[in-house]
Amino acid sequence: MAEGKFGTAINCMDGRVQLPVINFLKSNYALDYIDVITEAGPNGLLARGDDTNKMASIRDRIDISLNAHGSRLIALVGHYDCAGNPGSKEKQIEDIITALKKLMEWYPERNIIGLWVDENWQVSKISVDS
Ligand SMILES: [Zn+2]
Repeated sequence: MAEGKFGTAINCMDGRVQLPVINFLKSNYALDYIDVITEAGPNGLLARGDDTNKMASIRDRIDISLNAHGSRLIALVGHYDCAGNPGSKEKQIEDIITALKKLMEWYPERNIIGLWVDENWQVSKISVDS
């Protein structure tokens, strides 16, 4: 097992959201390293659930982070002005919650959170029951 405390971020490929998400997770969850799995609009991708190849690829990479790095937390991200999942904040939050429910089915024993990155690139936590 690798040394240090790892978390896993399922983030958008958008360059504007990488450091905000990594820094938020490191400072709020006492993590040393964040493994990052990127897609274009992963909240929409997981919420739609129709691209089984990409979903399998995401799941494979989550498994590597969990098994090789002992990741303690999985975070699923949606953000303002997303080119991969365009839409209102309300729709994107809805997609985050739907995606979280899918991840919780895949990994019922794991700690899984949603994150929203706003127009100022500030990160906030989204709960399933919000
Ligand atoms: Zn995006």
